[in-house]
Amino acid sequence: MSHTVCHDVGQWITDNVSQQVERCVEQDCNWWCLCCNKWFCFLVWVVVQVAKWVVTTVCEIVADVVDLVVNVVTGLIDIVVGIFTLDWSRIVAGFGEIIGGVVLFVVDLIPILIGGTLVGTFIDAADGWSLRSYVRGLLQDKYGKSDPEGLKRMFDALGLDGGGFGLRVDARAMRSQIRSDRSSRPGAPPDLVGWHNTGAIDLKVLAGVNPTVWWSRFWPELVGDNGSISESDIDAYLASGGTGAGIKHFSLFAMSQGDLDSRLDCADTHSRELGLIFRWEKVDGLLTRSDQAVVNRSTFASVLTSTPFNRTNTATNAQTAIDEVTMPLVIGGWGYSDGTGMGISAHLANCTCLEADDSGSTLFPGEGITGTHFRYRKPDLAFKYTAIHEIGHTFGLCHVSGLLRIMFTNAAGANKSIWSWSSFGQYLTTGVEAGFVLDEGKKVWDYIVANVDSTRLQTRAF
Ligand SMILES: [Zn+2]
Repeated sequence: MSHTVCHDVGQWITDNVSQQVERCVEQDCNWWCLCCNKWFCFLVWVVVQVAKWVVTTVCEIVADVVDLVVNVVTGLIDIVVGIFTLDWSRIVAGFGEIIGGVVLFVVDLIPILIGGTLVGTFIDAADGWSLRSYVRGLLQDKYGKSDPEGLKRMFDALGLDGGGFGLRVDARAMRSQIRSDRSSRPGAPPDLVGWHNTGAIDLKVLAGVNPTVWWSRFWPELVGDNGSISESDIDAYLASGGTGAGIKHFSLFAMSQGDLDSRLDCADTHSRELGLIFRWEKVDGLLTRSDQAVVNRSTFASVLTSTPFNRTNTATNAQTAIDEVTMPLVIGGWGYSDGTGMGISAHLANCTCLEADDSGSTLFPGEGITGTHFRYRKPDLAFKYTAIHEIGHTFGLCHVSGLLRIMFTNAAGANKSIWSWSSFGQYLTTGVEAGFVLDEGKKVWDYIVANVDSTRLQTRAF
């Protein structure tokens, strides 16, 4: 959380100072003084970057110390609670938090101490500048001749001339919810009982009371209508077919709101590397089908069209499908019928990948619909990137090698290497936080300019 504050401070300096100074550097030369106007602005730009580094470094060190204390304390709490409740997964998680917290603290300080983050500040600033120039060029090429007035409105709406560059998009974060008393047919028993009895889902696994494997268990939120719900309450509910006298009804959420928010915070931290700015609408989505709770990867695109997700594919309404590219949907759910993976996404249109897959192809075929789904898993250190990773896919990004890349995956079949030189360089210059690279920002804008309406690009949503 505290790192988010440091990041926001740095972002504020970028949006409100660096970007203006860049425009000053980009102005025409005053030849009578050998371009002194540009040189002077460039010196100011360098000074601004150094100042930004000093401010964010002090902030980061304080945040690292705070994190260390928080990790140790929460670890101790988890261990003590785990011992008293005989919850092994919680004890192990507690030790993980303490050991991980100490390791993280040391690993985070090394790039600062060797001066790597100072270099990183300049690399980030130069990358941001390059991305803005690239987007300016893309828009100029496509609209400069045909619609110069519209182009001006785009630059303004996208903040390309200052005030923070990014396409401002209204994004929706939907937390999957299951109700114990919801029935699709009036007077019939609750659907949930049927889902469980046919084996489509295992209610006790989804409720977290009967985890299959402790290290990848779910962390759902079970909320009784009248007080807490125990395992025996669920047994009684299932045994009576969901209609017995005296059974307790409940809502089951795939994750807590706080856990979902941690994914959205991470998405906000990194979206600017792609030139995207999210405004989140957070809602709970009441599931109406069992394949919305445990998603079959091969049918995800069609699941997206069902209620409560209600996304639109090209076949149903091509214009709405295009509009939804800039209305990202992130569904926080349970998991996948194949039992693997952290998320899944669908994207509208064909595009090309930065890295070829095993067959040598760089084609990333579109599915005619935009939407993402992810599950929650601990520890946050490794899995907080799931939402922004999936959003990256919906804007046309593919998997890459390198642990510190947000689009990295260790999924079998993807065959991406955990090691890459660029990730090592990234560690030395920005620490252990994963990120996007400049080429990915460019890819996202290739996708946006190719697929999003010109009127939308001229609109500043907020
Ligand atoms: Zn992926």
